[in-house]
Amino acid sequence: MKSCKNCQQKPVHTFTNKQQLCKQHFIRYFEKKIYYTIRKFSMLKNSDSLLFKHTEKNFPVIYPIIKQLTQTRGIKLTISPSSKHNKTISGSSMDDEAYEIINTIIKKSHKQLSQSSPVFKKTINPLYLLSDSEIQLYAKIKRMKNPVKKSNSSIITFINQLETKHPEVKNSIVNAFLKNQS
Ligand SMILES: [Zn+2]
Repeated sequence: MKSCKNCQQKPVHTFTNKQQLCKQHFIRYFEKKIYYTIRKFSMLKNSDSLLFKHTEKNFPVIYPIIKQLTQTRGIKLTISPSSKHNKTISGSSMDDEAYEIINTIIKKSHKQLSQSSPVFKKTINPLYLLSDSEIQLYAKIKRMKNPVKKSNSSIITFINQLETKHPEVKNSIVNAFLKNQS
């Protein structure tokens, strides 16, 4: 039987390149990915004050991670919309962004495609590079409620069908979009 690429424990997650991670190393991968996303897209300054609404998608999953990060850096964090803040945290996943990008293109919507950026105006999106399935697994290991609600949109169904034949299609959409933006 295969085991985690970092230790001999039983794997809980398999990447498309067939590498596998155990519970403990998946947790580490997930949290590191959020820190990496925040750093890569320059999402935070120490002088920021952040709003993270408790009604935001995936809030229970990433609130503890964001809280620890902001405490370490001395950044203000509030969950009350009435408090003063200069940036808002979004809980959208890579899946959500991939759907938004395709949706905007297909419907030739007036909405700007740049709204699907990791940082758009005053909204930052630390889960930008994590998929729904990774978020669900993290929540399950941490014994949190399943945060991802299923949607019946035809575009979501279409992309999910594509993904069964072309793994990482959401990754490809988001990466192509990011390349175009830079
Ligand atoms: Zn491991």
